Amino acid sequence: MPAQKIDGLHLSQAIRAEVAAGVATLVAAGKRPPGLAAVLVGENPASEVYVRNKRKACEEAGMANWLHRLPATATQADLLNLVADLNADPAVHGILVQLPLPKQMSEKAVINAISPAKDVDAFHPQNVGLLAAGHPRFLPCTPFGVQQMLVRSGIPTAGKNVVVIGRSNIVGKPMALILMQKPTPDFPEAGNATVTVVHRGTADLAAVCRTADILIAAVGVAKFVTADFVKPGAAVIDVGINSVGGKLCGDVDAEAVAPVAGWLSPVPKGVGPMTIAMLLQNTLKSAMIAG
Ligand code: NAP
Repeated sequence: MPAQKIDGLHLSQAIRAEVAAGVATLVAAGKRPPGLAAVLVGENPASEVYVRNKRKACEEAGMANWLHRLPATATQADLLNLVADLNADPAVHGILVQLPLPKQMSEKAVINAISPAKDVDAFHPQNVGLLAAGHPRFLPCTPFGVQQMLVRSGIPTAGKNVVVIGRSNIVGKPMALILMQKPTPDFPEAGNATVTVVHRGTADLAAVCRTADILIAAVGVAKFVTADFVKPGAAVIDVGINSVGGKLCGDVDAEAVAPVAGWLSPVPKGVGPMTIAMLLQNTLKSAMIAG
């Protein structure tokens, strides 16, 4: 039997409706609506699309949102000044500096300059530390989206073997941190799974992947995961976004893997829309914490 589809688009719509209800409750209580400020530096076509989609999602959820543009020639000081203004603005609950940044800017310096309380991407070292310590403020949007896909599809993680392919700060590493930890009242999303992270330094990567009940691919290589990586019946989550001949393609060879896997998330309409939904959820949480 072919793998069941994990419909990220459908699940993300449910989360966005929940967020919209949360926003309406806040506003009905006389609070300001949650606000997300996006910052775009230069003219990267992919970044333009990402930011447009995020702002549209904010509008549909009843959130305030702003787009601040800086030219590709802007200096790091220009961007840091803008971030300082947004940090100080009480109407802004979330700050999203769209990456990548032009070469003259240090992503690390910019991430460090965002107030951790408004860091809804959860990239700031304080938020990374809180996650690693087991009491996160925000969960990074993409791995949070994957966790929600599993939970909302009724795929248990506790006691399961999870293999994450990739160890980036944005996806692989926080994905492992979320799924390996013990659930607590501070961290109900924790997965209580046995997690292995594989990368370029891993010997016999396919064999390790075949031990996975849940296989999460965040590699950035089109169709990297083939049928021989997959234990029969495993849940396979494809985080990858690659362009092949102008067509969007994941890190999983879906055609080859679907007959083996039990569950499979598609690309597009898989993890991508979940990432946006979790960004909204984090912005709502930030506004609720701000009071
Ligand atoms: P990244 O920073 O490039 O990290 C890729 C990871 O994959 C690295 O740890 C790398 O290993 C590993 N890797 C790459 N090639 C490999 C190989 N041949 N064998 C073994 N390991 C290999 O990428 P990322 O930011 O995590 O993103 C991963 C993918 O997810 C990309 O396609 C990206 O576009 C996509 N993405 C999607 C969303 C979404 O919302 N859907 C969000 C973020 C990212 P080393 O560490 O050993 O180099």
